[in-house]
Amino acid sequence: MRLLTDEQKKWCETIGEFCKKEIEPIMLEWDKVVDPSKAIPFDAYAKAFKLGLNTFEIPEYAGGNKVDLHTAAVMYEEMGYYDGNFASVMQTTNLALKPVLIGGSDEQIKYFAKHILEGKGYAAFALTEPQSGSDAGSVLTTAVKDGDEWVINGEKCFITNGGEADIACVFAATDPSKGAKGLSAFMVPTTTPGFSVTKYEDKSGFRTISTCSLKFENVRVPAWNLVGEEGKGFTYAMKTLDKSRACVGALAVGIARRALDEALAFIKERVTFGKPVSTRQGIQWMVAEMATKIEVSRQMVIHANELQKQGLPFSKEAAMAKLFATESAMEVCTDAIQLMGGKGYMKEDCVEKMWRDIKAYCIFEGTTQVQKIVISGAVLSGKAN
Ligand SMILES: Cc1cc2nc3c(=O)[nH]c(=O)nc-3n(C[C@H](O)[C@H](O)[C@H](O)COP(=O)(O)OP(=O)(O)OC[C@H]3O[C@@H](n4cnc5c(N)ncnc54)[C@H](O)[C@@H]3O)c2cc1C
Repeated sequence: MRLLTDEQKKWCETIGEFCKKEIEPIMLEWDKVVDPSKAIPFDAYAKAFKLGLNTFEIPEYAGGNKVDLHTAAVMYEEMGYYDGNFASVMQTTNLALKPVLIGGSDEQIKYFAKHILEGKGYAAFALTEPQSGSDAGSVLTTAVKDGDEWVINGEKCFITNGGEADIACVFAATDPSKGAKGLSAFMVPTTTPGFSVTKYEDKSGFRTISTCSLKFENVRVPAWNLVGEEGKGFTYAMKTLDKSRACVGALAVGIARRALDEALAFIKERVTFGKPVSTRQGIQWMVAEMATKIEVSRQMVIHANELQKQGLPFSKEAAMAKLFATESAMEVCTDAIQLMGGKGYMKEDCVEKMWRDIKAYCIFEGTTQVQKIVISGAVLSGKAN
């Protein structure tokens, strides 16, 4: 049983009502759109922005509708339940402003939040480059100071919301000789001359959300667009990812919960050899394992967020939550298809789509292996309890 506050229950109702009306009826069709640059259901997402689903990690003084960490996790789980793509559009926009929330001034937070609130409603977090994924410190994009401006050159790849973002948080080397310690973060409005989208990735799943290559050719931004301090970009990026890992875990819990619900509905109805499939012990044990994985994942998300809320170290627990929840959700989606037999594998059913979508969650914001590096590093240091 989930323990929810009144506020959390209300958000679940709001998200449920919205998704049943605006997201569920269209997602399977939009998933089939062949051209990845045209696969974004803008109208439906715009309605979600009106509900504040892209800004609930942005403080009220900056125009957002910030909720506490546990409520945010409940909201991400609920959005994931209906559609992981839609949920990730919202989560990435919230994520993109986190470096400013971590390292920026109140004025910067207000100013950059405005780009999202008064723009189309999307933001992007642009860290990855062709040679720099897990090894995130090896960024080659550069930013050079020229008077009161920074001039950015380089390219990024696999950037979520890249094609729609009003503003992107871009990580660039301001002192390439210092490696990761020479990186800085910049807020770059996407209308700035020299900024271009060079590719929309054609993906296996996660199809109704853009994943783009971006190019920066002498992109000039005011000195003020430097987030926090020069040379602190890598620290801000890692802190951002630390803070958001439990959110990704929550999204995965939502996807897994839906996959289990779909499978349950099927096995209760489907009769083989004279009895519903759900009456077979081998099947019941699969159901028990799936439900347990979902509950453990949710509790790990709650625990990591509670540590973060109390100002205690939470890096290891957040990495564990992301690792366990995303890999478990992958297993639950695979098992859900198995439970549904041939029907589960067909594209007319949402479980097949969720199975393609969930794989991305095991890759972005730090792969499963990267989470293990974080966890084992903490454990081996002897500091983790
Ligand atoms: C759908 C999608 C959306 C994305 N959105 C964004 C975004 O919005 N912004 C952004 O900046 N990036 C984004 N990414 C990029 C994502 O963060 C990277 O793909 C991810 O960090 C892995 O980097 P890579 O693809 O270069 O793989 P690599 O780093 O090349 O890794 C290849 C494999 O080696 C493993 N590996 C690497 N190093 C080690 C090691 N030391 N020990 C053990 N195993 C290792 C990895 O786990 C992986 O299995 C997105 C990716 C996807 C798929």
